[in-house]
Amino acid sequence: MSIKNNLLKIKSSLPENVTLVAVSKTKPITDLMEAYHAGQRIFGENKIQEMTEKWEQMPKDIQWHMIGHIQTNKVKFMAPYVSLVHGIDSLKLLEEINKQALKNNRIIDCLLQIHIAEEETKFGLNEDELDNLLGSESFINLKNIKIVGLMGMATFTENQTQIKKEFEHLKSIFDKLQNLESNSLHFNILSMGMSGDYELAIKCGSTMVRIGSSIFGGR
Ligand SMILES: *Cc1c(COP(=O)(O)O)cnc(C)c1O
Repeated sequence: MSIKNNLLKIKSSLPENVTLVAVSKTKPITDLMEAYHAGQRIFGENKIQEMTEKWEQMPKDIQWHMIGHIQTNKVKFMAPYVSLVHGIDSLKLLEEINKQALKNNRIIDCLLQIHIAEEETKFGLNEDELDNLLGSESFINLKNIKIVGLMGMATFTENQTQIKKEFEHLKSIFDKLQNLESNSLHFNILSMGMSGDYELAIKCGSTMVRIGSSIFGGR
């Protein structure tokens, strides 16, 4: 199957309220352009340098999402153009994004990454850390970032029951925060689901899926 066919097939299977992020990390620009010509405008990358090189060379109506773990010292390279940052897991990182957004006269949309998986290796905040972050004075003073939702990754397992439990957990945190009235929260995005588990994620309430290998092939 071609990239175009993969993309169109997945797109047609998604409910209307679910946004597709085409995860193009490690793939060459020719592959991304094939998806672009098939109508895709949202691409996800996990390295700031690679994303910036692609941004420089590709059409400017593309929305670039940073989905990977972020090094604070690289934030400045994406601040002029990034459209959504998925993997926020510390106040320090948010402060740096706020600072660089201010320099660029922008407000940058961000998702807080929540640790829902069993594996130690998956990044993200636990619920205590989340509460501490949202309640802190310094967070409330950040005017150039906007928290628009949550992101999470389930455990890499065949066990559907476990994956479902993790997605439902994330959805319950999302619902709780969405019901909080707050000036600094504008919750409408729940980013969960990848090639192997996005159908289940959608059943559990995902509004944004990040799909790479099912569109572009293995890496
Ligand atoms: C690579 C990656 C994806 C896409 O994974 P696939 O299994 O190729 O769909 C989604 N989210 C994150 C955070 C990733 O790093």
